[in-house]
Amino acid sequence: MFIAGNWKMNGTVAQARDLAQALVNGLPDGAPATAIFPPAIHLAAVHDIIKDSPIFMGGQDCSSAENGAHTGDLSVAMLADIGARGVIVGHSERRTDHGESNEAILGKVKAAQSAGLGAVLCVGETLDERQSGRAETVVQSQLAACLPTTFDSGSVVIAYEPVWAIGTGMVATVQDISAMHSMIRQWLQAHRPEIADTFILYGGSVKAANAADVFGADEVGGALVGGASLKSDDFLGIIAAAMKA
Ligand code: PEP
Repeated sequence: MFIAGNWKMNGTVAQARDLAQALVNGLPDGAPATAIFPPAIHLAAVHDIIKDSPIFMGGQDCSSAENGAHTGDLSVAMLADIGARGVIVGHSERRTDHGESNEAILGKVKAAQSAGLGAVLCVGETLDERQSGRAETVVQSQLAACLPTTFDSGSVVIAYEPVWAIGTGMVATVQDISAMHSMIRQWLQAHRPEIADTFILYGGSVKAANAADVFGADEVGGALVGGASLKSDDFLGIIAAAMKA
């Protein structure tokens, strides 16, 4: 299992440090792989807290460019330099807020690979796409377009995040999660065998109260958690559920 917390655009540096410290203090022995994705401006402060712990951290986005005239962007080399070991790419909020295309996301996955960072590639359908029966086709086309055809140093984890379930309190049913995750596993085996065994995370309103159900679905290798990763007790509750799954 792999449990990842996406802190999004929340908190002050003091709150980031406190949350990271509470997770370091509360992480049980035998916990699954645990990663946190603080706002970029808090990465250095968080790294100071977690550096001697099993928790690792990543960025919420990266540039596909190596360096240069890209105001406001962060390179994978900058992330790695500050202690990040991974990066989220293609989150639906980046696709919506910043118009990120699948092509741009492929560039980011490749950049993460080149720096040896683990990429957490987010895929998922909108409500309209699900209601019109296109959920699986949409996810397949995102996988095909955003995943390189060869892989080098960095790992790639897939996060299936139905857009309509993110931050809404609505969670996909266990049957829908099982069907989508099984489809993703089969697609990887057929089209990207080098990463066919990777973690497939579910994301979308996961909380301590529903985590056991989510982890009981087929091919679920963990969770990408937004809102519930902002409180240490909630996030640690999800980690506890993963340990029981
Ligand atoms: C996310 O943003 O990746 C996410 C899953 O958010 P939430 O858990 O708040 O739905």
